[in-house]
Amino acid sequence: SDLHPMRALFKIPRNPPPTLHQPELWTGIFNDFICKCLIKDFELRPNVLDLLQHVFLQQIRGKEKVLQKHLMEHIDLNQHNMNSFTDVEEVDDLATLEVLDENTVADNLQGRYAKDQIYTYVGDILIAVNPFHPMDIYTPEHTKKYLGAERKANPPHIFAVADIAYQSGVSDSTDQCIVISGESGAGKTESAHLLVQQLTFLGKANNRELQEKILLVNSLVEAFGNATTAINDNSSRFGKYLEMKFTSGGTVVGAKISEYLLEKSRVIHQAAGERNFHIFYYMYAGLAERRKLAHYKLSDSKTPKYLFNEHVKLGPDIVSNASYKEQFDAVEQCFKVIGFTLEELGSVYSTLAAILISGDLEFAAVASEHQTDKSEISNIPVLENVASLLCIRCDELQEALTSHCVVARGETIIRPNTVEKATEVRDAMGKALYGRLFSWIVNRINALLIDPLNICVEGDNSLNIGILDIFGFENFKRNSFEQLCINIANEQIQFYFNQHIFTWEQDEYLNEEVDVRMIEYEDNRPLLDMFLQKPMGLLSLLDEESRFPQATDQTLVEKFEVNLKSKHFWRPMRVDLGFGINHYAGKVIYNASGFLAKNRDMLPADIVLLLRSSENLLISKLVTHPLTKTGYITRSLTTFIETQSCGDSGEATHHPRETTNMRTQTVSSYFRYSLMDLLSKMVSGQPHFVRCIKPNNDRQAHRFDQEKVVVQLRYTGVLETAKIRRQGYSHRILFANFVTRYSILAFRANEEPAATPESCTAILEKAKLENWAMGKTKVRTPRSNM
Ligand code: ATP
Ligand code: MG
Repeated sequence: SDLHPMRALFKIPRNPPPTLHQPELWTGIFNDFICKCLIKDFELRPNVLDLLQHVFLQQIRGKEKVLQKHLMEHIDLNQHNMNSFTDVEEVDDLATLEVLDENTVADNLQGRYAKDQIYTYVGDILIAVNPFHPMDIYTPEHTKKYLGAERKANPPHIFAVADIAYQSGVSDSTDQCIVISGESGAGKTESAHLLVQQLTFLGKANNRELQEKILLVNSLVEAFGNATTAINDNSSRFGKYLEMKFTSGGTVVGAKISEYLLEKSRVIHQAAGERNFHIFYYMYAGLAERRKLAHYKLSDSKTPKYLFNEHVKLGPDIVSNASYKEQFDAVEQCFKVIGFTLEELGSVYSTLAAILISGDLEFAAVASEHQTDKSEISNIPVLENVASLLCIRCDELQEALTSHCVVARGETIIRPNTVEKATEVRDAMGKALYGRLFSWIVNRINALLIDPLNICVEGDNSLNIGILDIFGFENFKRNSFEQLCINIANEQIQFYFNQHIFTWEQDEYLNEEVDVRMIEYEDNRPLLDMFLQKPMGLLSLLDEESRFPQATDQTLVEKFEVNLKSKHFWRPMRVDLGFGINHYAGKVIYNASGFLAKNRDMLPADIVLLLRSSENLLISKLVTHPLTKTGYITRSLTTFIETQSCGDSGEATHHPRETTNMRTQTVSSYFRYSLMDLLSKMVSGQPHFVRCIKPNNDRQAHRFDQEKVVVQLRYTGVLETAKIRRQGYSHRILFANFVTRYSILAFRANEEPAATPESCTAILEKAKLENWAMGKTKVRTPRSNM
């Protein structure tokens, strides 16, 4: 009688299309079944539909294909539409939902988001949907509310994650690790700040000064490592692992930061609409206000080429930008509070200015008697400025840029650089100086902040809580070496995530005394092996090829093709230098152009030796390693690679024309090392996951694009969890609910069978379901088998 909800739910029009009238497809039995089940249970979800479909298929053997096609056409399984008829309750913890799939999760998040409830749990994972507007949920009252509170006592919150990590760290004396992921602009960095804020409070630093310092670390590092991109005005261009150190009693005593894969190429080039690292603009505006631009050889009218693209020109909007000025003051304040000296600050500004100005060096070809392409610098005043800022000799800089020396048969020969080569050397110098400056700042912060008061005495089991703000999976129109590294890192994090969630699942099965042998999940280990294995993994092959001077990006791709015997690797047709990888989060086509150069990341020895001779202590320190002697291995990726590639580690030799033994360490081999280093830190601790979600591409508040969210839930692995659950006994329903809901399948409509395992078994057998399991309180069924 009450057909209305069913019609609406199934989107069956009042006048059903003819196909549905065909008796063999739309039989009375089926109709009846759906009707009864629907009336009984309006919370019809895809699983019930699956079940019905399954039962119905038994009745019309041989016509399954046709029927299925029609079902697909006419039954709209989109939860969004269904929920308008079924009042699905929004829950704080999505794992308490009986069905955990994409649409259910997205629907719930949408409902909550509409009420500005941006946080939701999925089991022990926190989902954070970016509100894109300031929220008043981070006040001191909130801070107190989440202090040592039971999770259920308060709404989900990022502070609760900090609290859980802190409490379990202190009570179990185990290191903790909070992994934040999500695509660019999803809110990872904001989340990391909030975690540090709450953890500093929890760590009840009795030393206010230290507390302040720790809170400033992020801002300082981000001024140098973040930039405006097409997607995010404050996009992190490096991976960051911040460890807060506590005594075993839980008092915060220090912090340490590790950085990964800074996107140095941004120094010399930015895509249209994007900008260089923030600090350059802050510095311009700040120095202009103090009338100190000239002191650093900068002009307020001519835009340095490294800052110039069609969207960025020096002008009032940069030079007198009030916010930039404020930021500059703030950065300087951070430096001072953390403990940098004024002299160090001056050197930092000189280095930044030298980098900017060096981008304006121009080269011209000169004809020479030997017909070789020689180059010379055509704007000597610029050269003088750079040399003066770097405290090196002008003529030596010119020489190091326009020529290079090679050792042949024991003899050192000086060879000229072409204009092209000289330009490359200039850019390599800019990138290297910036990368090293960044690493130096990070290391200096560490030296100043790792237990500066020496509170953790030897033997005290100190506690670390790490926060990983990592770059998310990337898939652009054109993907290069940087994307490959970023995606491999994500692959590794995903593997770690899977393992953790899998263990978590298994515990649940053990509690319910269900046989666990059934559980399978999509394991990305084969993919990781393909990347990391020695000697035939992708990274090893890349390294091997990087060692051959004659190798080209073409021979590299061919090497991959011959050696990588994996279904995850393929060569796309008609894409020169292209190769494809089936990542866990989707297919990505990479372009190998520039891979070898980027992996070698060489800074010519001539430049290194010249910079070492600088009278500016900071400059010479930047090219002389080791950068840190704090007792902690905190060498960053860039530091390590470049210090390794810039020659032997002996005493600095001051003669710029002396060649060095190049002991080269490639980017990929250091990347592998740092990945393992990061992982070992993470694995030794207990993980907590925060998955940031970007609700729309327009940075708009109160706008929730469901399709976009679903895609991210997949990438960030939340739905990986759903998938794992679906492939195992994803579906767990209490006996009573199961019997009420499905008794129609095995009992007469007026019967009311008891909520026992026996009734459930009868239903399951009647429905001819396979692979179900009876727990102590719940029935479990794998949806994939229906
Ligand atoms: P990327 O990968 O590019 O570094 P991200 O994930 O770190 O991106 P954020 O920089 O943290 O993204 O966030 C982007 C912007 O979103 C912030 O500048 C801020 O405007 C807004 N935002 C993020 N989280 C919050 C929040 N909890 N409350 C208010 N606004 C937020
Ligand atoms: Mg960020």
